[in-house]
Amino acid sequence: MADYRQMWTDLGMDLEKHDLLCEALPDAFAGVFLAQENRPEGMDYFNFVVAEIHGVRPAELVEHQKNGGKVFGTFCVYVPDEVVFAAGGIATGLCGGSQFWVPGGEKVLPANTCPLIKASVGARLDKTCPFFRIADMFIGETTCDGKKKAWEILNQDVPVYVMDLPQMKREKDIAAWEDEIRLFIQKIEAVTGNKITPQALADNIKLINAKRKALIRLYNTRKNTPVPISGKDALLITQIAFYDDPARFAAQTNALCEELEQRIARGEGVFPADAPRIMVTGSPMAIPNWKLHHIVETSGAAVVVEESCTGVRYFENLVDESPSTLEEQVRALAERYMKINCACFTPNTGRIDDILRLVKEYRVDGVIDCSLQFCELYSTEGYLVQQALKEAGIPVMHIETDYSEQDFEQIRTRVEAFLEMLGK
Ligand code: SF4
Ligand code: SF4
Repeated sequence: MADYRQMWTDLGMDLEKHDLLCEALPDAFAGVFLAQENRPEGMDYFNFVVAEIHGVRPAELVEHQKNGGKVFGTFCVYVPDEVVFAAGGIATGLCGGSQFWVPGGEKVLPANTCPLIKASVGARLDKTCPFFRIADMFIGETTCDGKKKAWEILNQDVPVYVMDLPQMKREKDIAAWEDEIRLFIQKIEAVTGNKITPQALADNIKLINAKRKALIRLYNTRKNTPVPISGKDALLITQIAFYDDPARFAAQTNALCEELEQRIARGEGVFPADAPRIMVTGSPMAIPNWKLHHIVETSGAAVVVEESCTGVRYFENLVDESPSTLEEQVRALAERYMKINCACFTPNTGRIDDILRLVKEYRVDGVIDCSLQFCELYSTEGYLVQQALKEAGIPVMHIETDYSEQDFEQIRTRVEAFLEMLGK
């Protein structure tokens, strides 16, 4: 990585501690990603983004702030990025996916909090992630209880604005989310000092839709046998989508897709045609959480789709681009975002419909339902998910894990037994 120490110092980071993270990441990345055979050349860009993860993009965000712009950190796929960009701001995903940050979170949170929340709080309080230092404001939401309480703790250290997400999907709930988006617009306008015009919102709805379309195109390539890209690489690209510049990200992903489509035309893939095709469903896998994918794909199977917020939940369904008034645009945003099926909703049968549909679309042989430890929402909903899959005759296994490496071999043993059971 180039030398960004001055920038990190200016951001008030704990350089000594941060060095430990910087030392560990290259080896971890090389072991999981660079060791793969026959990777697409288009992955070079994404390799570069990870190699410079605490440098290039943070420097762009700092530059944006020097020019008077604001940066907003988000933690959930319900927060409409379109609004932030329409006000001349930049939205960047902040969810923590590393065990490195967990002890920092445990200083202020109960140990039985999910690792994603602990890592996110730890990354801020320990001063070891530039993204968490740069954001002028964090945008929280009322999804799970752990997050709701974490916002109050983080708010002592950094301004946190919380969006009140309904937990049912009746018409009055969609109308309530529409109201929340209106309030969000007012807040973002106040913080940025910029008025959101219908034209600016229309332009940015197109911008974020273009990112979604690139990801849809990428995931469509994974429907082929043999699969032209590994699940690990696809997951990495989705994780990067949360914080990269949206236009550049879409261009790079589309360029990669051209290469993948050529591979498909030639019948080339990264796994043998008879490798078991696995769907991973459940809690999000924030960067750099690659554990389960790495285990599955070094056990001879291919992960072909993720039904998660670091998967299809992030990009399926486009926002309607036809409205021209602010009122209609806000309605279109509310309708699109309320189509996401997170386990914080009740009932959440739409998620089960999605899983069964994705099994068919991606010709899935088996499903791994994976929840993060202490994620009550996805662990509890796992019962209904597994029941529906069993009724449909689809093999399924449940895994509960955290960010540590302690259960790595135990999970590998269970995954291998599951793959053997698939009999491919
Ligand atoms: S799992 Fe639910 S709460 Fe978490 S990012 Fe996804 S939508 Fe938001
Ligand atoms: S993984 Fe589960 S517990 Fe953790 S933040 Fe997401 S919904 Fe909440």
